[in-house]
Amino acid sequence: MIASFLHRLFESASVPAAQCAGGFLPADVWTLCAVFAAVFGACIGSFLNVCIYRIPLDQSVVAPRSHCMTCGKLIPWYHNLPVVSYFALRGRCASCGARFSFRYAGVELLVAFLFLFVFCLWTPAGAAPPFGARPLLAPDSDGAAFSFAPLALVPVYWLFLSGLVVGTFIDLDHLILPDSVTIGGMVAGPVLSALLPAMQVRIGIGPDWEAGGALAPCLVWPTWWGSGLAWSLVGLAAGVVPLQLLRKGATWYFRRRGRIGPEDDAMGFGDIKLVGAIGAFLGWQAAVFSIAAAALYGTLVAVPLLLSGRRSLLSRLPFGPYLSLGALTWLFWGHRLAAAYLTLSSPWRVDPFRAAGTIAEMAVPLPL
Ligand SMILES: [Zn+2]
Repeated sequence: MIASFLHRLFESASVPAAQCAGGFLPADVWTLCAVFAAVFGACIGSFLNVCIYRIPLDQSVVAPRSHCMTCGKLIPWYHNLPVVSYFALRGRCASCGARFSFRYAGVELLVAFLFLFVFCLWTPAGAAPPFGARPLLAPDSDGAAFSFAPLALVPVYWLFLSGLVVGTFIDLDHLILPDSVTIGGMVAGPVLSALLPAMQVRIGIGPDWEAGGALAPCLVWPTWWGSGLAWSLVGLAAGVVPLQLLRKGATWYFRRRGRIGPEDDAMGFGDIKLVGAIGAFLGWQAAVFSIAAAALYGTLVAVPLLLSGRRSLLSRLPFGPYLSLGALTWLFWGHRLAAAYLTLSSPWRVDPFRAAGTIAEMAVPLPL
């Protein structure tokens, strides 16, 4: 049942790719690798729990080792296995019986699932993908060629999602987004994009030669390091510049109207840095999409709260988790949503972004 659920889920997110039908390695090998990806994700989730707890307290995430918050006893490794230990000990400390929040196991399960999802979607083109997922195409996946380009994206997206998870839960707990996540992402994004230009894959409009050269949505993959770096910086700017202007403007307006104190800001800078990090990792389209999706998700949560008269709860909700959810939506479904949008809308015949970005890049037709 789980396998069939995963099958359907991956099908909804992945781009159909006729070239993937061949099968390079036996499906069992990839399924085994996918299981390892999930187990690895649970272990990383366990570490992220430590980061979520300790980073806001300015404590080291490496030492000391995990201990019970109530009795202070060190937790031995066999009681610290991700997910498993929580259920084996029924969510309690083995020595004093204090309750641990279910959130620890929840974060481990979440990260395990995210790692599995990423692995299945970016399995090398030409391989038999696990659980029937149809991976995104890479530039050199022209039918017979076996490409490792998508597989190289897997650890990058694992790192990116780990940052989002840490940022989201710290924001929920403390209403802050730590610089180690936001500025860390704004630095790591351009560096990694130069090393792996395929990170800056985006949706464009190009001739579909199989359909007689008619214009159609396609994936555009940078293949030159300079192109990857440039698009990453464009993505960073696309996230930071408009929101920073909005923040300055809103602060000036609300200070003049006396709605906020002369030292207060109308908007948190942490959210802006987070969008910058999203743009630097996933490109300008992801930055724009994340802001729009976050506004939509925020509205979906805010309206029921306002209607039920819980206005005070609303003011305590941070914006970072919505932005993270928006970035996650783009990573898994964005290219498909954008292609569907472009197919439906007519005034896309001229695409200045693609015209400016075709140097050292490759367009791959995107069948819907
Ligand atoms: Zn204890």
